[in-house]
Amino acid sequence: MQVYFLGTGTSQGIPVIGSQHPVCLSNDRKDKRLRVSVWVRWEGWSIVIDCGPDFRQQMLVSRCETLDALLFTHEHSDHTAGLDDIRPFFFKQQKNIPVYAHERVLENLKQRFDYIFATENKYPGAPSVDTFEVQHDVPFRLGNMIVTPINVGHGSLQVFGYRLQDFVYLTDVKTVDAGELVKLKDVKVLVVNALREEPHHSHFSLQDALDFIHLVQPERAYITHISHLMGFHEVVQEKLPANVYLAYDNLEINI
Ligand SMILES: [Zn+2]
Repeated sequence: MQVYFLGTGTSQGIPVIGSQHPVCLSNDRKDKRLRVSVWVRWEGWSIVIDCGPDFRQQMLVSRCETLDALLFTHEHSDHTAGLDDIRPFFFKQQKNIPVYAHERVLENLKQRFDYIFATENKYPGAPSVDTFEVQHDVPFRLGNMIVTPINVGHGSLQVFGYRLQDFVYLTDVKTVDAGELVKLKDVKVLVVNALREEPHHSHFSLQDALDFIHLVQPERAYITHISHLMGFHEVVQEKLPANVYLAYDNLEINI
């Protein structure tokens, strides 16, 4: 399985528009972070988790050529605003793009992108999707792959993370119920969010994430959904335990 980090930034991305913060002015490519998303490939399958406002640019840079499914973690705009840009995949593949999300998230997308979900008098250039409701404690299949949803809390908002074999992707997490931890057992690669060092009401801080990684005990962990307030990539990476890495845009890992 290949996992490609399409974006590793928090909702505004890095650099933040108009910011004079030193991290926003950094020339290190690892300090440039698009909105958070990953591309996962295995056995001819190609899926993307979340589809934020940078989706088009991310698909071009990564050279992603097919999209077999789109999985959503939650409805916030930094995770969903790029949905219209699935059009080239829809045209090329000549079939509806399967979209997997919580019922609440599907309803939200239907309101915001009504023309994509329309069944009558559809505008000819609009893409079409097939929707699949993701439910708590109900794993689903993509080809031979079993995908296990992991239920987490983003402040008061429910969010789904996903496990695909030895890979777990969790973003926008602040709380994880003890009952969900069994789904993370023996994971090799854990991706989890950390916003910055300072605490935040709906995101793990760096210390929250390190405590969570210590609890889960993956072989390797990658941190994502990073704010410019976290600091320079190079400086923060130096401080992390040996098996913990700050993810960065266009990093690709094999699992
Ligand atoms: Zn987010």
